[in-house]
Amino acid sequence: MKAVIVKQPGGADQLIVADYPMPTPKNGEVVIKVKASAINRSDIIAREGKAGYLENPILGIEVAGEVVETTEEAKIKIGTRVMGLVNGGGYAEYVTMPANRIMIVPDHLSFEQAAAIPEVFLTAYQTLFWLGELKDDETVLIHAGASGVGTAAIQLAKKMTKAKIIATAGSTEKVNFCCSLGADICINYKEQAFEEEVLKATNGKGVDVILDFVGASYWEKNLKSMNTDGRWILIGILGGPVVEKVNLMNLLMKRIQLKATLLTPRSDEYKKQLTEEFEQKVVPLFISEQIKPIIDKVLPLEKIKEAHEYMEGNKNIGKIILSVK
Ligand code: NAP
Repeated sequence: MKAVIVKQPGGADQLIVADYPMPTPKNGEVVIKVKASAINRSDIIAREGKAGYLENPILGIEVAGEVVETTEEAKIKIGTRVMGLVNGGGYAEYVTMPANRIMIVPDHLSFEQAAAIPEVFLTAYQTLFWLGELKDDETVLIHAGASGVGTAAIQLAKKMTKAKIIATAGSTEKVNFCCSLGADICINYKEQAFEEEVLKATNGKGVDVILDFVGASYWEKNLKSMNTDGRWILIGILGGPVVEKVNLMNLLMKRIQLKATLLTPRSDEYKKQLTEEFEQKVVPLFISEQIKPIIDKVLPLEKIKEAHEYMEGNKNIGKIILSVK
């Protein structure tokens, strides 16, 4: 089969489409003919050789496609249209997936649209509700609001709670998009001090939940933006991993809960439980078209270098999809 592999850890020019042996399913897994996959920041980290937790030499952690082979414990019919998280191997014509975390693609969605769902919507759901414990009378601050995870989080917070949503993004186009998805206050962090806008919007109290993709460069500003008893969910470190001079007294005084998480290295059991709850509570919102996958671009597998560079240039609003023939 055709698959994308990394010649040497490094830049996007290290990505090549090569012939690769077909994957063999373990009992409880299925083989999927991949119709579409999607780009994630963790693929870039893996390409650079910095993600020690991904063992599969083929990148790609989410797919949509058709089941072409099952195993004894995998109770799913050949030909079923499915989507979900894979343990690497998604940038390829075929991939294996544990059957117990397969989601059925809603009828009205194409494979490209379905591939835009698993990683960012599961992450947004897990961080807003399992870790962030967001409630109706609270306020959430969603950074990188036009990112894949950000666009998912804005929609989920809007449709599943009455919480006030504040989003930040780095251009007028992105800020407008966040507002169009339902964010109540949208801040261009390149033009305004977001922490001041947050305090204005919350009568000086700050927000109850922060989805933080940025890390070090936002440390002080996030601290200022946080309400007492706030949950600060660290999901990414796009603004750097090292915070100089942390004053823990500030965390103590506000009783802040700082929770850090990565979905990809979580266990198969955790992903199964998350997916099952997501299928019950969120997939119906896709079926009734109350929420939707957000796609910036669809590129063929062969354009993998362009796809990675586009994400690394911070150009996308929503997802970059790879279509696989
Ligand atoms: P994405 O679609 O590529 O969007 C990321 C956006 O973040 C960029 O377009 C850019 O938008 C903004 N950004 C980049 N560098 C920044 C900086 N230094 N300061 C402020 N904003 C910056 O990303 P994604 O796939 O949604 O992922 C978003 C983040 O979540 C990534 O860090 C990713 O690693 C993380 N993630 C974590 C998990 C987890 O389980 N922990 C799961 C999935 C994703 P602007 O133009 O608005 O600046």
